[in-house]
Parts: sequence; structure tokens; C-alpha cells
Amino acid sequence: MTHAEILAAAGLSTAELTGGTLPVRSPIDGAEVARVHETRGPEMPAIIARSQAAFRAWREVPAPRRGELVRLLGEELRAAKAELGALVTLEVGKITSEGLGEVQEMIDICDFAVGLSRQLYGLTIASERPGHRMAETWHPMGPVGIITAFNFPVAVWSWNAALALVCGDPVIWKPSEKTPLTAIATQKIMDRALARFGDAPEGLCQLVIGGPAVGEALVASKDVPILSATGSTRMGGIVGPKVAARWGRPILELGGNNAMIVAPSADLDMAVRAITFGAVGTAGQRCTSLRRLIVHRSIRDDLVARLAKVYGKLPVGDPRKAGTLIGPLIDMGARDRMLAQIEKAKAEGGKVHGGQAVEGVKGGAYVTPALIEMPGQTATVCEECFAPILYVLTYDSLDEAIAIQNEVPQGLSSCIFTLNLREAETFLSAAGSDCGIANVNIGPSGAEIGGAFGGEKETGGGRESGSDAWKGYMRRQTSTVNFSAKLPLAQGVQFEV
Ligand code: NAD
Repeated sequence: MTHAEILAAAGLSTAELTGGTLPVRSPIDGAEVARVHETRGPEMPAIIARSQAAFRAWREVPAPRRGELVRLLGEELRAAKAELGALVTLEVGKITSEGLGEVQEMIDICDFAVGLSRQLYGLTIASERPGHRMAETWHPMGPVGIITAFNFPVAVWSWNAALALVCGDPVIWKPSEKTPLTAIATQKIMDRALARFGDAPEGLCQLVIGGPAVGEALVASKDVPILSATGSTRMGGIVGPKVAARWGRPILELGGNNAMIVAPSADLDMAVRAITFGAVGTAGQRCTSLRRLIVHRSIRDDLVARLAKVYGKLPVGDPRKAGTLIGPLIDMGARDRMLAQIEKAKAEGGKVHGGQAVEGVKGGAYVTPALIEMPGQTATVCEECFAPILYVLTYDSLDEAIAIQNEVPQGLSSCIFTLNLREAETFLSAAGSDCGIANVNIGPSGAEIGGAFGGEKETGGGRESGSDAWKGYMRRQTSTVNFSAKLPLAQGVQFEV
């Protein structure tokens, strides 16, 4: 299909694709595919006010009924999966199966949220006073601002929106300025679900388009009590304190520098497959991409030789073509940053395999993935470079491996390959990985939606998606009811008048 056919199949009209100020290029060939209209700063107060008005109505709708809207969204996404997946490929350069996988993730979180809409449970708590009952209730919180990164242009919105909507919160989405088209197409899918739902308040799900300045309006507004921001640690360092300063609730999902420890007992065939997907899948542009390989000295040479062989034959090219495993980076800037990072690693003693620019389809930022044997965990290794670079480090004892793993400022995802139960459990223990995600015999990327997703330290501390992440979108109210005829005080305090 041509670019134009993919855009048309996703329901984007000429009016939406032309006449605006924001150019959109496909990383496949660098071609400009649209110029979309940006939201202007003066429009933001009315958008936020609409969201507040929608909140006042939506919070009164019973949660299972709110779940019905998300069920319809899931249905619409199922119907649009092929077209939206193809648009993800066009706009971000993901290979076809990963573009479709991203939409599947949206469908999965909708299913999860529908069930959740009947399970927003609070606790009953034993009161120390006779004739008293204590309970916790979860209430909707208000508009949720959702700022998303380019690399999961639609799934991250759905993780937030599906939960927020069943929790009783409206959403205002500001996608990456690099990926407005998938956002516009997703908003249309949402609009179809809203039309079928019938009586949702106007302004329940809004989309704003533009760069940081548009996001800033959400960050600054007291009328947006929850601000979910996914992107670089640099962005989180600006946004997080601003939201906290106005007493808002930030949910930060920032950069990672994810590691795998490969122990002597590891099944190396499995490890090689997991390493390859983790490090080069999505062209190394996942927050959970594998960036550091911490290998036991006894198996290091064998593993590096196997990896170098696999790396040498990985198909790089047009992400739409069957068989391609590595598509383009998002743009030439990303390619330049990768090549510069490799030079820095070399200067620090790194021995590089791969890591070269390749001429793919003209105009795209295609690279071969880099495997870099490092003499130690240098300053460059401690930085997240959003590209397929995998540093190989060596360890002698598990304690040392865990220390290397935890030494970096980021704390998103981690894993160990071992068949030794003691090593696996130590890695998962309080003295083990300090990351939000810690896996055994599975790579660090490709999380399922059922678990809470997020990381510690400079990854921001936020949690989204499954488990009890929904609590981040609600306010907790503790209530004590006295059904006795006396008024005893807690802790035995006497105050007779
Ligand atoms: P980015 O930080 O450049 O941009 C992310 C979003 O933040 C964009 O929508 C951008 O417009 C907005 N933004 C930037 N500065 C802002 C400001 N001052 N105020 C308000 N909004 C602002 O990130 P990117 O290049 O799009 O994405 C890659 C980064 O995202 C990587 O660091 C990756 O690890 C991270 N990421 C993290 C997760 C996670 O869940 N932890 C998921 C995906 C991506």
C-alpha cells in the first residue's frame, strides 16, 4: 500500500492532513506525509474547562456503565486493528507485527479495564472503637492529562485512558509531536465508541496536538489533577516538579537503561533469542529495550561470539516487508545520536561490532545494531541512548553482577538468565534488582498489560496498566461511621465537657 492509501484506510481526511503547521514525516523513507493543525495555546483553557465539566457528569455515572464505553472502545479497536497497526508502522517505522502488537495491547487493556469497572474495591477496616465501622472508598479524581512519547504512540494513551475512564476521570491527550497521525486516528476510533455509547458528556476524551508548549498547559493547570507523562528523563525532570509544585499528582514513565545478567547455568540458546529481541526489537526504541548485558566471565566469549554471528545477519530495512526485523530509527537525529554514542564508547575502550548507518529506502534512518564490549560500566554506558546499542560487561560473582545492574540512575526493567534457583530468587529479593520490572529467563521488554508497569529512580516511580495501577487515577476516602450512642475517642483520649 502507498502512504496515501494507509492514511486513507485509517480514516484520515485531506482536511486533517493538510494546511497545518506541524510536518509529519514517515521514518520509512523520510517523506513528508502530512502537515497537521496544532492546538493553539489560547485554546487550552476552554479545552480544560470542557474536561472539568465532563468530569462533573462522568463521576456520577456508575463505574460498570463507564466500563461499557471502554468495552465499545475495545470493539472498535478490534475492527480497526489492521489499519491502525499499519499507520503505526508508517508513522513510527515499527515492523508490521509490532505495529499490530501495539494495537493488540490497546485491546488487552480495554478488556482489563472493563473487568476492573466492577472491581474498584475499597477495604473495610477493623475499628478500635465499639459501635464503629471504618471503610475506604475510591472516588474519581478529575481530568487526566496524558503526555505520550513517540515510540508507543497509541498504546500508552490506552493504558492511561482505559483506566481513567472506568475510574470516572476524563482525559486530555497530548501525543508526541512526532506522532500526531496515529493519535488523530485513535481519537476517531474513540469517537465511534462514544457515538455508540450515546450519552457520554461532551469533552470526555479530548486530543490536543503540538509540542512541549501544548503539554505545558496541562502541566501547569490546577484543573488537571493527574498528569501522566511518558518520555525522557529530561522531560520528566521538568514536568514532575511543576506538577508537584501545584499539588497535582504526576505519573512519570521515563527513561530506562535495562540490563540482563547471564549466569553460567543459563540456557544460552534461549538467552541469545531473548537478547536479540530485547536489544534490537523496535530498533532499540523501547523504554524497556535491553541496553546492558552483564555476562559471567566463564561464558562471555562464547556468548559474544554467538551474538556477533546473529547480529551479522539481522534483516534491516523497510518495516512493511515480510522478514524485516529492524526498521528505521524515528529520524536522522536519532541516528546521529546513536553514531555519536558509539564514538564515545569507543573512546572509553569499547570494541564495537556493527553499529553502522545503512542505506535502506532512501531518506530513512537505518542502522545495523551495535554490540559493544566494554572494559567496565563507563559514563556512556550509564546513559540511555534510544537506539539499538547493547553494551557487554563482565562479572565474576552474582553480588557484583547485581551491583553493576543497580549502579545506573535509571530503574525500569531488568532480568536474569539462570537455571540456578538461588541466583534467581536472590535477583528477585530485596537485595536484588532495584527495578520496577525484574524477570527470570525472559528479556526485559514486551511486558503484558496485567502487571503494573513502571520503574524507580530516574524512571520516575509511576505505575500504569495492570494490577492496582488504577488507584493512581482515583482518590481514597477513609470513612468512620459511629452507629453507637457513645462518642469514644481513639487512642483512649478522654475529653469530657
Ligand atoms: P521526549 O521526552 O522527547 O517527549 C515525550 C513527550 O513529552 C512528548 O509528547 C513531548 O512533546 C513532551 N514534552 C517534552 N518536553 C515537555 C515539557 N517541558 N512540558 C510538557 N511536555 C513535554 O521523549 P521521546 O523522544 O518522545 O520518547 C523517548 C523517551 O521516552 C525515552 O527516554 C524512553 O525511555 C521514554 N519512554 C518511557 C516509557 C516508560 O513507560 N517508562 C515508555 C515509552 C518511552
